[in-house]
Amino acid sequence: MSTIEKVECLIIGSGPAGYTAGIYAARAGLKPVMYTGMQPGGQLTITTEVENYPGYPKGIQGPEMMEDFKAQAERFGTDIRFGYASKVDFTGPVHKVWVDETTEIHANTVVIATGASAKWLGLPSEQRLNGFGVSACAVCDGFFFKQQDVAIVGAGDTAAEEATYLSKICKKVYMIVRRSEMRASKAMQERVKNTPNIEILWDSETKEILGEKAVDGALITNLKTGEERKINVTGFFVAIGHTPNTQIFKDWITMDEQGYIETIPGTSKTNIKGVFAVGDAQDKVYRQAVTAAGSGCMGALDAERYLAEIGVH
Ligand code: NDP
Repeated sequence: MSTIEKVECLIIGSGPAGYTAGIYAARAGLKPVMYTGMQPGGQLTITTEVENYPGYPKGIQGPEMMEDFKAQAERFGTDIRFGYASKVDFTGPVHKVWVDETTEIHANTVVIATGASAKWLGLPSEQRLNGFGVSACAVCDGFFFKQQDVAIVGAGDTAAEEATYLSKICKKVYMIVRRSEMRASKAMQERVKNTPNIEILWDSETKEILGEKAVDGALITNLKTGEERKINVTGFFVAIGHTPNTQIFKDWITMDEQGYIETIPGTSKTNIKGVFAVGDAQDKVYRQAVTAAGSGCMGALDAERYLAEIGVH
């Protein structure tokens, strides 16, 4: 038997988008309830230094920044709970969300801020050195490798864009591509190929990332010849795609083929009235903490306006 609880505004997810939605919704008096998901704080809790978030001129550790976001959301009364939303039913005007199979929330508005998860190669060394030279975000961490040699794995638009970004900061960029062609758009490919300090390693796979406490190289295997080579890099970027955490919404919410939620441009509105999507769950292009936070604010404002329209608040 699950308990039923009625709320005006339910926020699912606790990254920069979710917490910002909490701050705005609480200050607007919506008494928001937030479920954090299994990784409270989201992707930033697995990064180290964050230097590009405005307001922290000296930089801040990702987990600490998320504690600050949480404290600010709590200060205004966001009810933050550890819990995992496992099922939804968006048929009626009241939106049903099941949490941990014990609680059934009936919400007038839902702000989806479930984020996305970076895909990883799956090497133990990649996991061990994550945050110590291994990163899934060149825009976040490229700066730490100024004038150094780095590698990036992937051949999609993200990898191409990030390789180009890194080439402007780093001395040399090895781009590790597993096939003999790239998936990225023609224009992006051309840009990569025409950048002198990017060396593309075609038909190549990463065997191991080297280093004890920090990355100091990588072993690369050529899949055609079987030849192995060591590249001397201090940064290792993985750009092989992200998975938006939107699976539980797929029967109700309009998404693209990769599972990113579609919102009406310039708003956080989804195809379901009263359900809003913010942060990386609906953004495959920018994926920054600051853009996620901005969209979290939009979600709360859209929820507030919707509640006023239906006469609930
Ligand atoms: P994609 O899924 O498009 O590309 C992933 C890349 O990673 C592919 O080249 C794939 O190789 C490679 N890959 C996957 N798994 C592995 C692995 N285990 N080892 C090595 N390589 C691997 O992801 P993106 O993040 O690049 O892009 C996602 C979406 O966002 C796309 O639709 C893209 O167009 C869009 N996007 C648009 C941008 C823009 O418009 N400015 C910027 C960034 C993204 P293979 O090709 O062999 O499958």
